[in-house]
Formats: sequence, structure tokens, C-alpha cells
Amino acid sequence: MEIHRMEMIYRVNVERCIACGKCELACAFAHGSEGKPAKTRINIFRRGPELGTPVVCFQCHDAACAAICPTQALVRNAATGAIEMVRERCILCRMCVAACPFGNMLWDEAYHRVQKCDLCGGDPKCVPFCPTHALEYVPADAAATRPEPLVREAV
Ligand code: SF4
Ligand code: SF4
Repeated sequence: MEIHRMEMIYRVNVERCIACGKCELACAFAHGSEGKPAKTRINIFRRGPELGTPVVCFQCHDAACAAICPTQALVRNAATGAIEMVRERCILCRMCVAACPFGNMLWDEAYHRVQKCDLCGGDPKCVPFCPTHALEYVPADAAATRPEPLVREAV
């Protein structure tokens, strides 16, 4: 029997983001330990009251971080499409931090390691915490549809 895995897409609907920061908190605590948050791998660029742009790894096809890594510590997960870090190979040189053109390789001072979004192995922890569905993890065919606009109260 042949099993076809459903391809999933992490979709960011910028116009639905209200800059509440719940995704940042969910990420920080999901990747921390013993109640100590890690550096969040998703960052909200706050453009104004309740206006945010989520900034998170694009899992680039030609990823500059993976290309520059001297120890091949950044590896594509064939199942999720995400670039994951093999911690045992990382020598903490931070060349990937310098190479990412979008600032999505993040040095975490508290844990003394680089943090990057790896889609949580196919179960992104930020998504269920987003109250406006600005973040979604959806089947690839559904990702082509345009998200509903967010109704915002007039001020
Ligand atoms: S910090 Fe680690 S993952 Fe980044 S380039 Fe250096 S060895 Fe590779
Ligand atoms: S949880 Fe959703 S609405 Fe809130 S800041 Fe994150 S992306 Fe924006």
C-alpha cells in the first residue's frame, strides 16, 4: 500500500496579526526548559497599535545558513521541509547568524546556542495560540486560498 503524506504549509497572514505576542511566548516556553524561556524563534515587528508583522524562518530553498555552516549542522527535514539543527554538530561559530539575510538565525544568550524555527517537527507550537489565525499550518492545496480579512474595529 502506498501512503501519500499530506504536504503542509506554514502560512503567515500578515494582515490578520494584532501584535499580541502570544506566538512569541508560546515559542519561547516550548523551547525552554524548567520554566526558563528560550529566545523566541518568531518575532513580531510591531508597526503600530494592534498591527504586527510576524518574522520567522522561511525555510529557504537555497538556505544561506545551511550553505555557510562549516559542520553541516543545518539539515533539511524531508518530511516537514524545515531546516533543522543537529546540535551535536554545532560548534557555535554563529556564521549562520551572520549569513541569514532575514535575521532569522538567533543567538540565545541564556542557552548559549543558536535558535531557529524548525516547525517544531511538524507541529508548530505557535499556531494554536494565535487568536486571529494570522499563523496557520495547512495542507498545501488549501494554502493557495486567500485568507479571510480580519474585521477590525474602527477607532
Ligand atoms: S553556529 Fe552552528 S549551525 Fe551555525 S554555522 Fe556555526 S556550526 Fe553551523
Ligand atoms: S499570536 Fe497571532 S496575532 Fe498575536 S502577535 Fe502572534 S501572529 Fe500576531
